[in-house]
Amino acid sequence: MTAAPAAACPIELNLGQAMAQARARGLDRLDAQWLLGHVLRRPRSWLIAHEDAKLDANQAHGYAELCQRRADGEPLAYLMGEWEFHGLVFGVTPDVLIPRPDTEILVDWALELLLQRGQSEPRVLDLGTGSGAIALAVAHRHPSARVTATDLSDAALAVAQNNAERLGLTLNWHRGNWWRALPAHQDFDLVLSNPPYIAAGDPHLPALHNEPLLALTPGGDGLDALREIIVGAVARLAKDGWLLLEHGWDQAEAVTRLLQNAGLAQIATRLDIEGRPRCTGGRQGSAD
Ligand code: GLN
Repeated sequence: MTAAPAAACPIELNLGQAMAQARARGLDRLDAQWLLGHVLRRPRSWLIAHEDAKLDANQAHGYAELCQRRADGEPLAYLMGEWEFHGLVFGVTPDVLIPRPDTEILVDWALELLLQRGQSEPRVLDLGTGSGAIALAVAHRHPSARVTATDLSDAALAVAQNNAERLGLTLNWHRGNWWRALPAHQDFDLVLSNPPYIAAGDPHLPALHNEPLLALTPGGDGLDALREIIVGAVARLAKDGWLLLEHGWDQAEAVTRLLQNAGLAQIATRLDIEGRPRCTGGRQGSAD
């Protein structure tokens, strides 16, 4: 038996060559840079200034493997194990949805309402928190808020709790299905959710197969989770409390109707970064 030729191992690869190899595998430039920065634990700005720096054999091997997984379609966020949302870095695993820029619109809306209301300790709830992105972004930007977050998945809650620790934030956590996760008689000034809303037959669903199906689709027409959250909100919203929901680009009308049927007032829709209706919310109807 002869040993494998040493030439099979990458030796003395510099950053420029490593990037070129990644591009040759079909990675785009930014992905190749992010992954290289991840392997070297350096910011992208450092990479650009150090094209001649060398990777050791471990780094070269790790980089080649990550590039291959990326070329095979694994999302960058899972390969890096973290992702930025609303200016904060969140740990992510395949147990949670990758936080989307569109969802920052929901957070911005929530923060606006909290500022307007000016309550001293508003009670905020995030149903189906996943990585904790919404709940933790609100808790971070509005420190007086008392934030509760739920999820059906133990694994997702573990990711969210880990993120809370990283960010030094304290939330109340409950595991369970939508409203059933919560202790009885607890109500909230602001309820937020980005529930699964993709319809079972949506042609975009297969492309998202790396993300947890539970977080993407409730099956059927995609509205079941939104219905359950809206119907249950009436009993849980404090007087003048708000419910804000993310939904599919073609679901604003359906969600508006569900909110109207639940008796909510001041119903409004906000657009996502591509100009499509993405979030709809309303206020607990009171006597006025
Ligand atoms: N916004 C995600 C997407 O379209 C889906 C997230 C969800 O179902 N809540 O990829």
